[in-house]
Amino acid sequence: MVRAVLIILAIVLGIIAFALNNKSGQLFLLDTGIKQVLAQDYQHGDDSLRVLVCGSSSPLPAAGRAQGCIAIITPEHFFVIDSGAGSTSNLQSVNLPLNRLDGVLVTHFHSDHIAELYEVNLGCWVGGRPAPMKVYGPKGIKKVISGINQTYELDVQYRTEHHGEAFMPAKLAVLQPVRLDAGEALTLGSLKITSFSADHSPTSPAVSYKIEYKDRKVVVTGDTNVTATLAGQVKGVDLLLTDALSQPILNRMIAGATEASRTRGAKNS
Ligand SMILES: [Zn+2]
Repeated sequence: MVRAVLIILAIVLGIIAFALNNKSGQLFLLDTGIKQVLAQDYQHGDDSLRVLVCGSSSPLPAAGRAQGCIAIITPEHFFVIDSGAGSTSNLQSVNLPLNRLDGVLVTHFHSDHIAELYEVNLGCWVGGRPAPMKVYGPKGIKKVISGINQTYELDVQYRTEHHGEAFMPAKLAVLQPVRLDAGEALTLGSLKITSFSADHSPTSPAVSYKIEYKDRKVVVTGDTNVTATLAGQVKGVDLLLTDALSQPILNRMIAGATEASRTRGAKNS
């Protein structure tokens, strides 16, 4: 029995090795990959509320993980909450429908939550989104988005010149800030997104979002301490996604950096 399994395993590995080292095999694998990744439209298929963690790391280096990003998808809606570094490629690699992205919701303006606002905008502009990308957030959103638009003005110009105004209209690449303060809600058909205050002291403002779709509820907190407001908002939810920090691990990192005389590292941990 073991011998038969080993023989089958050897044959399979031989076929894989042959395919990887043979031009026809390489082209077959390339074509198969293209069909799997690029040539398929996203299909939702049911009325589920889907949540994808497209980023989960802090500003500290974490190999293989993108910074803060949560995707919310229904058959009719697609929102992204925060857009940290590395998160856009995660959205693209699982073939989410960027051409129908309704907008990005920002919890606060730390870099690890906003670093790729332009990248995700670029992805859905290229993907054919028919309107400018809206970016929702509390007070400060207009300042942040104004800066991003100014920073990437030339990039938009270059890409429109390269691909043509008809294919990539420059006006669709300009991010649109929408103020959504704690206590306010956004309703789109059967989807309701409510912003409520988070405690990310001394960073202010900071908000969390509650997503309600038909009979399902999800809360995405962003960076926050546990508060009475949060406790009230998460009652009865189906899914809670929160950014967590382990104080004991952080303390050990600070102690280790201090012992190694890395005073800046100890302060920045
Ligand atoms: Zn933060």
